[in-house]
Amino acid sequence: MRAVVYRNGELVLGAYADPIPAAGQVLVKTRACGICGSDLHFCDHAQAFTNLASRAGIASMEVDLCRDIVLGHEFCGEIMEFGPSADRRFKPGQLVCSLPLAIGPTGARTIGYSDEYPGGLGEYMVLTEALLLPVPNGLPATCAALTEPMAVGWHAVEIAQVQPHHIPVVIGCGPVGLAVVAALKHKQVAPIIASDPSPDRRALALRMGADAVVDPREESPFRQAEKIARPVGQGGALSSSLLSKSQMIFECVGVPGMLRHAMDGASDGSEIMVVGACMQPDAIEPMIGMFKALTIKFSRTYTGEEFAAVLHMIGEGALDVSPLVTDVIGLSDVPSAFEALRSPGAQAKVIVDPWR
Ligand SMILES: [Zn+2]
Repeated sequence: MRAVVYRNGELVLGAYADPIPAAGQVLVKTRACGICGSDLHFCDHAQAFTNLASRAGIASMEVDLCRDIVLGHEFCGEIMEFGPSADRRFKPGQLVCSLPLAIGPTGARTIGYSDEYPGGLGEYMVLTEALLLPVPNGLPATCAALTEPMAVGWHAVEIAQVQPHHIPVVIGCGPVGLAVVAALKHKQVAPIIASDPSPDRRALALRMGADAVVDPREESPFRQAEKIARPVGQGGALSSSLLSKSQMIFECVGVPGMLRHAMDGASDGSEIMVVGACMQPDAIEPMIGMFKALTIKFSRTYTGEEFAAVLHMIGEGALDVSPLVTDVIGLSDVPSAFEALRSPGAQAKVIVDPWR
């Protein structure tokens, strides 16, 4: 099959062996697959990426970097053929989503970071039948493929347990930050403050439900949150309810320096939810955290239930993801799209249609 292959440290359009479904697996035609920031990280620092996964004990991400790898973990596929002893719950032609996890004879593997299971940047994939979720309500594959990144944002908001005394501050309005904004909006948390240097991404944040957006080069999102907590006219008069306002900061950028930046900007008693995936060391000053009584928490992907619930919400129109799809490209354009996404500008989610 045609696929974009990570080979010898480079992304190339090439040939990859057609995947064959084993027992309990299904062959699907890839209909849409999103390019994720983690895919860019993987291409830049594949060895560090796999070392970190190994140190964290994630056995499903063990990968031999000398072998070809087809990236892509945000996908929607169309059922083609069943492997042996399949239940055949769905008919060929049915669109499906799945957690990016394949369960086979060698155990569980993360689809998209595996030398065994090709991800969505190829024409075909094999998925695990027991994990398949039918795409509801005639939802287009391009939107269904956003289930995975939206679930990342949804989970972060779930575990943040935003309370009435929190003002949410979303740092970074790439796909992850926008998914966080959408989840906060869905949970009717207000006001939501979102920050990004790109005017296009700030406009997207407003469309996804942010109440105020900030260009961090001109204004601190943390000070903006304080202003909202203490409206003009109430300057120094601190009522007890205003005093108790603190920030729930969602760090959705994931580059070194952001944790320290969030801790420096956070108001007293704030919480920082780390959602942006930073692979390099990021020095912090614990004393700042102590003086301000900060809490830092890290979010890891999502649960299977959350993933299914997010697909359902997208299908029902309760989460509108269509503004996030800023481009749909074919396989031959993927290597240049990876380059372009290093300085994303107006792009949010670039979707790959391998059959385009
Ligand atoms: Zn991702």
